[in-house]
Amino acid sequence: MPPHTHADAHAVDTAARLRAAGLRVTDSRRAVVEALGERPHASAEELFAVVAQTVPGTSLQSVYNALGDFVDAGLARRIEPAGRPGLFELRVDDNHHHLICSSCGAVEDVDCVVGAAPCLTPSDAHGYAVQVAEVTFWGVCPACSADRAAAVPAAS
Ligand SMILES: [Zn+2]
Ligand SMILES: [Zn+2]
Repeated sequence: MPPHTHADAHAVDTAARLRAAGLRVTDSRRAVVEALGERPHASAEELFAVVAQTVPGTSLQSVYNALGDFVDAGLARRIEPAGRPGLFELRVDDNHHHLICSSCGAVEDVDCVVGAAPCLTPSDAHGYAVQVAEVTFWGVCPACSADRAAAVPAAS
């Protein structure tokens, strides 16, 4: 990543990114890409809260639409952890996996073990040509583990 020079360069960068993906550049799309760059693994609601501050008049639906367009264009990836809203990220060029805290919902990227998709081989692929393996590791993050340890009352 080159260091940021100034705000305009950043805006041009975002517009170029949208154009490269074959998408028309609009203020709300640009704002969604920028918000997503700053908050990987954000939900549409979280992104809407950010975008609404810079692009007044943006609706939650338009953020959903923009995200759907990004995913279709290969600009963003949607992950759908069980029981949670879909999360979006711009890191699409690899087959990385995710570590999710079952307590607070924190999400960390986990690099693919072999560096190429799919990084897991099913014991029986049933004749399918497997293209992607998405792994979600569920656990408790260090901050939540520390909170739990602190919350345990001392035995008397
Ligand atoms: Zn946690
Ligand atoms: Zn990720």
